[in-house]
Amino acid sequence: MEHDCILGKSKGEWLAEFPILQDLCDLKETCWRNPDQLPYQQAVAQCALTMADIQDASARLQRFASYFISAFSETRPLEGLLESPMVEIPRMKTVLETQYGKSIDGNLMVKLDSHLPISGSIKARGGIYEVLKLAEEIALKEGYLTLEDDYQILDTPRFRALFSRYAVAVGSTGNLGLSIGIISAKLGFKVAVHMSADARQWKKDLLRSKGVEVYEYASDYSVAVKEGRIAAQDNPFCHFVDDENSKTLFLGYAVAALRLKNQCAEQGIVVDAYHPLCVYLPCGVGGGPGGVAFGIKMVFGAHAHCYFAEPTHSCCMLLGMATDYHDQVSVQDFGIDNKTVADGLAVGRASGFVGRFIKPLLDGCYTVTDSRMYQMLAQLADSQDIWLEPSALAGMIGPVVMGDQETADTTPTHLVWATGGNMVPQDTMEAYYRTGKACLLVERKQSTAWIFAQG
Ligand SMILES: *Cc1c(COP(=O)(O)O)cnc(C)c1O
Repeated sequence: MEHDCILGKSKGEWLAEFPILQDLCDLKETCWRNPDQLPYQQAVAQCALTMADIQDASARLQRFASYFISAFSETRPLEGLLESPMVEIPRMKTVLETQYGKSIDGNLMVKLDSHLPISGSIKARGGIYEVLKLAEEIALKEGYLTLEDDYQILDTPRFRALFSRYAVAVGSTGNLGLSIGIISAKLGFKVAVHMSADARQWKKDLLRSKGVEVYEYASDYSVAVKEGRIAAQDNPFCHFVDDENSKTLFLGYAVAALRLKNQCAEQGIVVDAYHPLCVYLPCGVGGGPGGVAFGIKMVFGAHAHCYFAEPTHSCCMLLGMATDYHDQVSVQDFGIDNKTVADGLAVGRASGFVGRFIKPLLDGCYTVTDSRMYQMLAQLADSQDIWLEPSALAGMIGPVVMGDQETADTTPTHLVWATGGNMVPQDTMEAYYRTGKACLLVERKQSTAWIFAQG
């Protein structure tokens, strides 16, 4: 609901204090460079989490590798690790350069979290990790498991009987529910997923087919989370996965950076003062991109630059960071409706901790329209035969709008984090693609830049 008075100030007073809010309220695509980014060492010194925390999470995931090999056959090729490929997309780079009449220095790469095993989105990192941590805690406490055991034993009736005495609950716009629901049900937990109005029908159907209780709400993400929290709070045997506040989720996402370091080494990608790494991360509530960005800064240091990408209608993180009011304000307070086709990013109020935590490390944020996400979805499919969901394209425009900060003697690697898409049903994907082609036609008619670039 749009308010006349937000935290004691009129909308006019807010606009006077933070002029960027006018563009956000007008739903204009907006770039924000972070004026409060700190020198790297200083920023790291302020962090409440450390490399040791990321390594602890990584070791836990490693302990579960034999469980995954046993319980999910698709994890066998990577020996039980949930990891995604990183590939170069040179033809997409040319498409972007042509459309926007601007050359992109360096390489354009994409990180295909869209193709993570089990749930086909970035949520297969944090979401699954939090449930594994819970399972391990319970099994250790009940004397069923030691840290030295082969965790394959968790894929047995005895453990499923143990976990069936416990419940897991979560609120979601879709993908987090999918991850938490699938892994919890497989381990044997009772699991309830509280879905916002954004959640696609096929995600709810899939979860119900796996025995997950799905609750549906006509409202947005914040309400789904609140309902999940309420449903869990009176039950000491129910663990609520708190996407708005969980450090565990965050650390699960951060592990991505340790793996990325190996992938860069394998592919001969150097990150140093002359070869900066610029990473573009679609942002919803902030845990996913925040965790990955934190990990990347810890692993690659000052030569990595991270940017968050949001839909123009759901710009909660940019709003929170630019004003420093973080989770105290929502986009709805300012009359922005939080309605977007990018269901993974349809969040109106940012995480309770991520914005404050990551701000000293972050280079900037920007927003992107639904039309542009659709266009890039079709362009990526045509040029590279890579099929993503709309949310996952938010990062793709980053090299065009934020990527020209480097000096002439540097060759950056632009890494677009493609956060989801592999599980989208084919008819839904075809409809996304057709919409993308239609948006491109409209865009071409409107944009002389495009016509000139085409010759
Ligand atoms: C959840 C999600 C994100 C963003 O993660 P947050 O933790 O909500 O910021 C990005 N892309 C997709 C496809 C997602 O499902």
